[in-house]
Amino acid sequence: MTTLETEPAPAPTAAAAVREVDVAIIGSGFAGLCMAIALRRRRQTDFVVLERGDDVGGTWRDNTYPGAACDVQSNLYSFSFAPNPDWPRSYSEQPEIQEYLRSTADRFGVRPHCVFGADVTSARWDDAARRWDITTTAGRFRSRILVSAAGALADPTYPDIPGLDTFAGTVMHSARWDHGHDLTGERVAVIGTGASAIQVVPAIQPIVESIAVYQRTPAWVVPRTDHPVAPWLKLLYRFVPGLQKAIRAFLYLVREFLVLGMAKNRRLLTPVGKLARAHLHRQVRDPKLRAALTPDYTIGCKRILISNDYFPAVAAPNAELVTAGIAEVRPTSIVAQDGVERPTDTIVLATGFHVTDLPIAQKICGRDGRSLADVWSEGMVTNRSAAVAGFPNMFLLVGPNVGVGHTSMVYMIESQVAYVDDALATMDAEGLEVLETTPEAQDAYRAMIAEKSKGTVWLAGGCASWYLDEHGHNTTLWPDFTFRFRKLTKKLDRENYVGIPAGAPTSTEEVAA
Ligand code: NAP
Repeated sequence: MTTLETEPAPAPTAAAAVREVDVAIIGSGFAGLCMAIALRRRRQTDFVVLERGDDVGGTWRDNTYPGAACDVQSNLYSFSFAPNPDWPRSYSEQPEIQEYLRSTADRFGVRPHCVFGADVTSARWDDAARRWDITTTAGRFRSRILVSAAGALADPTYPDIPGLDTFAGTVMHSARWDHGHDLTGERVAVIGTGASAIQVVPAIQPIVESIAVYQRTPAWVVPRTDHPVAPWLKLLYRFVPGLQKAIRAFLYLVREFLVLGMAKNRRLLTPVGKLARAHLHRQVRDPKLRAALTPDYTIGCKRILISNDYFPAVAAPNAELVTAGIAEVRPTSIVAQDGVERPTDTIVLATGFHVTDLPIAQKICGRDGRSLADVWSEGMVTNRSAAVAGFPNMFLLVGPNVGVGHTSMVYMIESQVAYVDDALATMDAEGLEVLETTPEAQDAYRAMIAEKSKGTVWLAGGCASWYLDEHGHNTTLWPDFTFRFRKLTKKLDRENYVGIPAGAPTSTEEVAA
């Protein structure tokens, strides 16, 4: 694909209280950028990307904790249309991924469409005007189409631990790292043992006086086959792009094999479990610590983590794995449920994100004025993970049931963007002003997800995870091969939508699809 010329959207005049645009995209992470690039490719320039931060990048801009890196190889964890021959390592670190997103935004002319510092506080569908009314901290906007690409790893979860608010030292979430705070020589507590924690712990353990890792549930960890990319290979990638493409396809296929075990036949995960056990045995000698680090659920039930330095860091002389649970936090210490009090200078919360209760859902209100969060109070429902009945001309990216633990989210994002792109093309081709999915389509999609989820490791693997909502339903993961999702979302399922042509009556019920 060639570089698109930068063609800025018209700047709002100082007097304009409300800026009218055709499409408003919320968020400029991988999903928001991908959507914006798709619009540019259709020569659409009348759009804005509303970004609450001061730069593009989304979760990769915000997660700057020490050790932050991707656990999917960069040749796969990148846009198919924007390969990067210069990845320094097979698994890139946060700064390189953020730089990739920044340069991709510039290369495809997205940045002039971005409105930074625009935190969306509400987006309401005005049925009479057939427009979305969007209020942000950077002004008001009106759009025909709303695409929420706010992401699932956007808003950190702060645990409800007694006394946490009385702590006199520093408390920081892994997703909001305070780089002005030097941990050297401090007594640090890390709460959580998920994908973020296992990267933070080895990165800070060598510099702190002591580190206590508060583990609620141990994670399955497999070796990380990371290596620098040799200069000759970068040259090859540059001059033989087909090679990088072939490696990408190979990585994709290998990872897709995991779905066989996770979603089809859990016994196929046995070798992966053995690999993780052997890794733990090799790296941790102390049988007591080993036992404490051994999960009691099937591998894959929670995200499989990859690390070569997490276990050695936890086994280091200045480290301690605390499994007793936290009773309370005091101004200068943490008291575990076994009564042991550990003096603490800084608490790192590696406690994850609001995934099944997406905060953006409280801000988007549909035709009857109800928010997505209200409509979803019994669980998140959509048609094809993208559209919701009662929310005309709105599409979700990285919303319900598109999550993947075994492969690249970027693959899913590109599938979703193709679907939204086809929806917009259909609206143009048919002269539709409004497009809205039906409740029946949602019910059918929900039933399909429930059927596919039956017997999968995520439901039957014996763990509690944020993949499931409070009702125990899988509302976050795509429970099948990802190529099936791509096939399902290749084209708009027009039969599942009601469309209203421009000038036709307002109520969608008056016009049959
Ligand atoms: P996470 O997977 O949700 O892990 C949160 C951790 O905090 C869990 O160990 C959880 O324990 C613990 N926790 C939560 N509340 C707690 C409480 N009140 N008391 C004690 N412990 C508590 O969050 P994350 O590690 O930030 O990862 C989130 C997602 O981000 C990942 O699944 C992945 O998709 C993504 N991520 C990716 C990478 C990458 O390399 N690509 C890196 C980091 C993150 P329980 O297990 O018992 O709930």
